Amino acid sequence: MQNPKAIIVGAGIAGLSAALELNRQGIEVLVLEKAATPGGKIREVMVDGVPIDSGPTVFTMRWVFDELFESAGTRLDDHLCLRPLQILARHAWSEDERLDLFADPERSAAAIGEFAGPGEARRFKEFCQRARRTYRTLENTFIRDSRPTPAGLVSRSGLRGIGDLIRISPYDTLWHALGRHFHNPRLRQLFGRYSTYCGSSPYQAPATLMLITHVEQEGVWSVEGGMSRLPEALYKLAAAQGVQFLFNTPVSRINARAGRVCGVTLDENESLDADLVVFNGDIGALSRGRLGIEVAGAVQGPEPGQRSLSALTWSLKAAPQGFPLIRHNVFFSSDYQAEFRDIFEHHRLPKEPTVYICAQDRQDDDCHGQSGAERLLCLVNAPPIGDQHHYKPTEIAQCEESTFRLLARCGLKIDLNESPHLITTPTDFEHLFPATGGALYGRASHGWRASFDRPGSRSQVPGLYLAGGSVHPGAGVPMATLSGRLAARTVIQDLTSRKW
Ligand SMILES: Cc1cc2nc3c(=O)[nH]c(=O)nc-3n(C[C@H](O)[C@H](O)[C@H](O)COP(=O)(O)OP(=O)(O)OC[C@H]3O[C@@H](n4cnc5c(N)ncnc54)[C@H](O)[C@@H]3O)c2cc1C
Repeated sequence: MQNPKAIIVGAGIAGLSAALELNRQGIEVLVLEKAATPGGKIREVMVDGVPIDSGPTVFTMRWVFDELFESAGTRLDDHLCLRPLQILARHAWSEDERLDLFADPERSAAAIGEFAGPGEARRFKEFCQRARRTYRTLENTFIRDSRPTPAGLVSRSGLRGIGDLIRISPYDTLWHALGRHFHNPRLRQLFGRYSTYCGSSPYQAPATLMLITHVEQEGVWSVEGGMSRLPEALYKLAAAQGVQFLFNTPVSRINARAGRVCGVTLDENESLDADLVVFNGDIGALSRGRLGIEVAGAVQGPEPGQRSLSALTWSLKAAPQGFPLIRHNVFFSSDYQAEFRDIFEHHRLPKEPTVYICAQDRQDDDCHGQSGAERLLCLVNAPPIGDQHHYKPTEIAQCEESTFRLLARCGLKIDLNESPHLITTPTDFEHLFPATGGALYGRASHGWRASFDRPGSRSQVPGLYLAGGSVHPGAGVPMATLSGRLAARTVIQDLTSRKW
């Protein structure tokens, strides 16, 4: 077949990385995006005339992006300015209980020693080794594999690797495993929170998710100008290399002929032909028939009860007082178990949520280098029911009250009445990312099998491929980027084999 034509539905980070990769392989690529700009969840909102990063803010796994730019024939540093952070995050439980984690694990161990005693510092080091081992075991056998299965993982690991697989405790929960490492409940809570990076509860997520701790210790960067510069750079690069983009262009149907995908229909009823389609939206939209019945059986999306966390966010321009904010800050609730019970069992906003604040005008110190108000993203976890439940103003007000009360307990004063802000609820996320209920990370990683239940790049309908945080290897900016590359790789495999 000469120059096949591909349509990519969605210009999220996975759609962009798939576009670059397919274009490099000589495929004609058209990206259709319903929003006005690229990036999907990587988004800025305007508050009082300034753009505020209101999606992902923690940039990790730089190597994924180095490899992506390199494979497109250029260098990441020629397109983006990344700055490594020395302090990964500042954690607080009250005005007197604060703990910083550092890029240098020795500094973290010293800080933990001071916070919780030398025994905990020693156990932290052991924990780091275990997290590193878990990451190394899974990097090649799971993360980079296009469709891992438990049996495949075992056979690819070989005899020596099987021991490694057993040691990473795939059947244990993260919370339980952390209890064996940390005696201090604050530390258990701190390291349990990493499961929320893929939208999961530490009480139900497998112990293997401790690999996220290792990922963060490998480096966290800030992106000059904000996270949106990343998709913007990829979009410009792809456009310069010949990829075509249409924004403000929602796709209402993916079409099939004789059981094979043959193009898409736009909202205005215009149809566009293609030899293959890569879908970058949430797979729930496919399985719920939002893209037409011809592709509804292409993949099994998560049931509402299997969805990952949503969020309630405040994008703020404020003049915070009393707490030495750095770039990434976490303020912990006093009953972590109750928080996740509220979200996953009672399906309600937590009575007292743990709060994350990205003070995006700051780096490693508590100075934001400008006078007056600064830009903040304040985020609490929320249940992914934005499609079934309309949040009443009283519910939001209650959660707001407990959020800012917790901050005040930790010494941080923000006067919301004096601070222009924009609130985003799970219902808003559902509108932005249809058929998710506002879940931001696809299927929750609950139980040891959950990671294997995410589909790979190939769907059940020939010619339809999947890329994004709801498919393997999962959510988060680097993982979704990898999924885009895996989708492109699968397309090429199929094109060069008899599967086509
Ligand atoms: C508040 C928040 C905080 C987060 N924090 C972090 C973090 O700190 N670090 C991190 O690594 N990750 C974080 N994440 C997760 C990360 O942002 C996502 O996993 C990742 O960006 C997902 O990329 P994606 O390509 O899979 O999909 P998306 O970003 O969802 O992109 C999909 C695109 O497809 C488009 N689309 C969907 N359906 C259609 C259609 N029918 N027609 C046309 N276009 C369509 C959508 O408009 C969207 O642009 C966060 C996410 C959120 C929302």
